[in-house]
Amino acid sequence: MIRGLARRSTFDNLVYLRDVVTLELDRGSCVGCGACIDVCPREVLILEDRKSIIVDRDRCMECGACAINCATGAITVSSGVGCAAAVINSKLGRSGRGCCTIDP
Ligand code: SF4
Ligand code: SF4
Repeated sequence: MIRGLARRSTFDNLVYLRDVVTLELDRGSCVGCGACIDVCPREVLILEDRKSIIVDRDRCMECGACAINCATGAITVSSGVGCAAAVINSKLGRSGRGCCTIDP
């Protein structure tokens, strides 16, 4: 059974940045709960054979939602050049100290 692909439609062709994403998945630690798939806004992950897999790393915007919601620590991701906070700050007109900071 594959979970996650059904939602892929609106953003199918969008890629944030290529070959820079820090997202890593340890399938050995995955228990197949599906939380990462449910929270991912970019449809980067799917559930296949009761384990999560990364289907398109370049779609990841490094928001961290998957890692935060993974109870087993199977996912790691660092905010970086694909940092969602930078996008949000930019949209809100904020100037941060760096890419991933939010002014207090
Ligand atoms: S949240 Fe973690 S344990 Fe659950 S499916 Fe995703 S990687 Fe696997
Ligand atoms: S960091 Fe965000 S965009 Fe990337 S895979 Fe996790 S939830 Fe999806």
